[in-house]
Amino acid sequence: MRSQLRVSDLKKREYTVSRLMNVKIPAYVSDAIEKVAADLGASKTEVVVALLNEGLDAATSALKSWTPPKAGTRTRSCAVPGCKRAHVAKGYCGNHYQAARRAGSVA
Ligand SMILES: [Zn+2]
Repeated sequence: MRSQLRVSDLKKREYTVSRLMNVKIPAYVSDAIEKVAADLGASKTEVVVALLNEGLDAATSALKSWTPPKAGTRTRSCAVPGCKRAHVAKGYCGNHYQAARRAGSVA
């Protein structure tokens, strides 16, 4: 299966579903991919897919112990000294943002 493709597998391969993904890459990267493809007797697409798979494996492994911050966790608070309410907009809590808007200091 193509999604499991690795650089070392480029000689024995089979394909399933594919999707077009158009991306711009620097010319030197394209040249390097072309050289690797020629050296391995593979297509540039195969080399790119193999490298992406290895990169994704590395990223997955690197992120294994990472957990995203909980949604709705607010660490930023209102910019007005002494105000402990959570930030809502333009550096202020809801009350101070509305006050600043009425006073015309916030657009
Ligand atoms: Zn406030």
